[in-house]
Amino acid sequence: MNKIKENIEKIKQQIDQASHATYHANNQQGEFLSSNRQNSVTLLAVSKTKPASAVVQAYLAGQRDFGENYLQEAVEKITQLSHLPELCWHFIGPIQSNKTKQIAKNFTWVHSVDRAKVAIRLNSHRNEYLSETSDENYGQDSALNICLQVNISEESSKSGILASELFSLAEVVNNCDKLNLRGLMAIPEKNACVASYAQMQYLFKKLQTQYPTVDTLSMGMSNDLHLAITHGSTMVRIGTAIFGKRD
Ligand SMILES: *Cc1c(COP(=O)(O)O)cnc(C)c1O
Repeated sequence: MNKIKENIEKIKQQIDQASHATYHANNQQGEFLSSNRQNSVTLLAVSKTKPASAVVQAYLAGQRDFGENYLQEAVEKITQLSHLPELCWHFIGPIQSNKTKQIAKNFTWVHSVDRAKVAIRLNSHRNEYLSETSDENYGQDSALNICLQVNISEESSKSGILASELFSLAEVVNNCDKLNLRGLMAIPEKNACVASYAQMQYLFKKLQTQYPTVDTLSMGMSNDLHLAITHGSTMVRIGTAIFGKRD
């Protein structure tokens, strides 16, 4: 068994353990949860800085969702791997508005939308792209899946919108016909307190009550996977623990 496959299986076990812990904790609080709830966390493999061959190894282990941060590097990999159409690419890095065209064209998900200008540009470029392509696959599921990045630790150096401005941005995205508002993304700072995770869970639940398309809380990386899942994460973004350290 290759190392990447072994790592993916280990992570999946950790996800299951954290999901079970969450399930039991919620049950003790008397909350109703359907019985399949504990398997609802998606593993996103973050392949930034890693070669296409590493993505293929993960693919052979059954992995389908991949996250990338750097546009040029990502587009090269996506092009190289276009013979694997089941791959689903997620853009998770900071977005410069002059990069929105390439992002709208190459990705299925964008996790890092944090301002209206970027959302509006992604929408118009997605529209343009869809009208250029005659691919039948781009029927109903043609909209770009969007998570809004929240700067939960309110770090001035980090991307992300402040919680106080989140709901007006959600409304902008919801009004874009080629964007599908799926949820929230956060990168809590190192050693962030539990309150940051709880705050994300609260914002996510609140957003869900307003928009029925919202089903994704993208939170948790190699070092905070358990804490994220016990606070309602539905998608964890794991790089190092799958592919090893980055240079
Ligand atoms: C790099 C990165 C990850 C993966 O982090 P690891 O600690 O390697 O698991 C997840 N999310 C974002 C936004 C990243 O930039």
